[in-house]
Parts: sequence; structure tokens; C-alpha cells
Amino acid sequence: MNKKATVFIGCDCDYGDARVVIFGAPFDGTASFRPGTRFAPQAMRASSEGGIETYSLRQKKDLSDICACDIGDLVLPYGNAEQALRAIEDTVASIAADGKLPVMIGGEHLVTLGAVRALAATNRDLRVIHFDAHSDLRDEYYGQKLSHATVMRRVWELVGDGRIFQFGIRSGDREETEWGGRHVYTNYFNADGIDHAVRSVKNYPVYLSVDLDVLDSSVLPGTGTPEAGGLSYGELIDSVLKLSGLNIAGADINELSPHYDPSGASTLVACKVLRELLLMLG
Ligand code: MN
Ligand code: MN
Repeated sequence: MNKKATVFIGCDCDYGDARVVIFGAPFDGTASFRPGTRFAPQAMRASSEGGIETYSLRQKKDLSDICACDIGDLVLPYGNAEQALRAIEDTVASIAADGKLPVMIGGEHLVTLGAVRALAATNRDLRVIHFDAHSDLRDEYYGQKLSHATVMRRVWELVGDGRIFQFGIRSGDREETEWGGRHVYTNYFNADGIDHAVRSVKNYPVYLSVDLDVLDSSVLPGTGTPEAGGLSYGELIDSVLKLSGLNIAGADINELSPHYDPSGASTLVACKVLRELLLMLG
């Protein structure tokens, strides 16, 4: 663990006391179009200090209320996806074994697989709620089984049929779309089906994965594969807050690529999504 000087704003609780543990997984070794997500965790920490408040007017809660600990970034090998996933899996397993809730900042979306491997091993009936522009259900991408374009197919192999609930999907090839129609719940173009998902998963442990490109590309252009026609910030937060009260075993936020938005606004949007997510969990 490479402990950096800064933490995400308000997440300075001691590890021993923390209920929520944040860490960065700065891996972007399989990004298909434009890499750069490896810079997201540090960019978010730096921008959060001064860029956002610890208090949420929306939830009337403050990050200081929830005792979260930011333990820094994992040191991951950029050229070796399997080794990176093992490091993520070990970290998530150890946080969960300590009775704490792991929250990961990607990195590209493949990092989710490491976390789900750890949590599916100890949560037999794990459900997955997935916000994304892309279904990520390809079996292979450029001949690779491990890719941010295949991550939900690999997750499906661990959790099984009918246990993945996708929202905001508006891009995919014909094959993965037809395959998805038989194996996962998909809410195209919006998140109107979130109440259905909440009812379906309420008796089970849940993993939450937020690929930030679910947001419209005008809201968050700082990502490797921006897609027009996405959710507004308010629609995403409305949906995330509906997950309050579920038995959430872990969560991540991924695919911010800070340098593609030189205004810095995308990074601040990501920070605010993370703050709302943490407050919802706390
Ligand atoms: Mn994705
Ligand atoms: Mn995506």
C-alpha cells in the first residue's frame, strides 16, 4: 500500500475506527480507446480538497459523520491485468474481513472484477447494480478475456443469471446486447427501473459499480469512452440514493480520465458522486 500525503476530503478516520474504507486502484492497462484512468484517484483527492464541501445539502449529512478512512492507492503493474486483479481482490478481502465496507476508486472498469471476486467468495447470493453507458458484456475484446469491455461478462460468471442489474446502457454490439437480454436485467437509456432493482435485491448482499460514463458526455467529458444521451448528474444521484438501506457489501466508482477534461469539472463531478455515494453508504 502506497500511502499518499492527501486523502479524499473528510476521509481521515483511523483505519481501526473506520466503517468505510476507500482505496485507489489506478489501473488502465486494457482501456480500449483512450487510457488515463490511472490518474483518477490522485486527481480526485487533490480536487476534493477545496473543490467540494464535506457537507451534502441533498442528504443533510457530512462526511465527518461517517468515519471513512482513505488508505491510499494500490501499487499495480500496468501491463499485467491478472496480477492487478489479484492485488485488488486481496485488498477488498482484507477490508471486508475486518468488518469494513470497501469503496474503490478506479482505474478502468476492469478493476471491478477484483472486488467482485473477493466479495462473491464470501457472499453466496451477491447481486450487482451497475451504472454505465456500456453493458461491458462482451466475452472477449481484441482477443482478451480481461478488459473493461468484458468486465460484466466475467462478473456474470461469478454471480450467475438474473443477478446483474444495469442502468443507463446505450452502447453495445449486437451480440452482447442479445446475450445480455437472456442473462441480465438491462435498463436502456435511463435508470427508470431502479425501484424494480431495489425490490429484487433487497434481501441480498449487493455490489454497486458506477462507471462514470453513465453520465451524459456533456456532464462528464473526462472519460475514455464518452457516450452522448446519458444520465444527468441529478438522475444518477436520485438513483444512487434509492439504494440507501440495501445490504451493500462493496462499491466502486471508475473510468474517470481527468486529463480529457482540462477544465477540471469532470473530476469535481466525480468527487461529488463519490461524496454522495459515501454518505448514502454511511
Ligand atoms: Mn464500463
Ligand atoms: Mn462505460
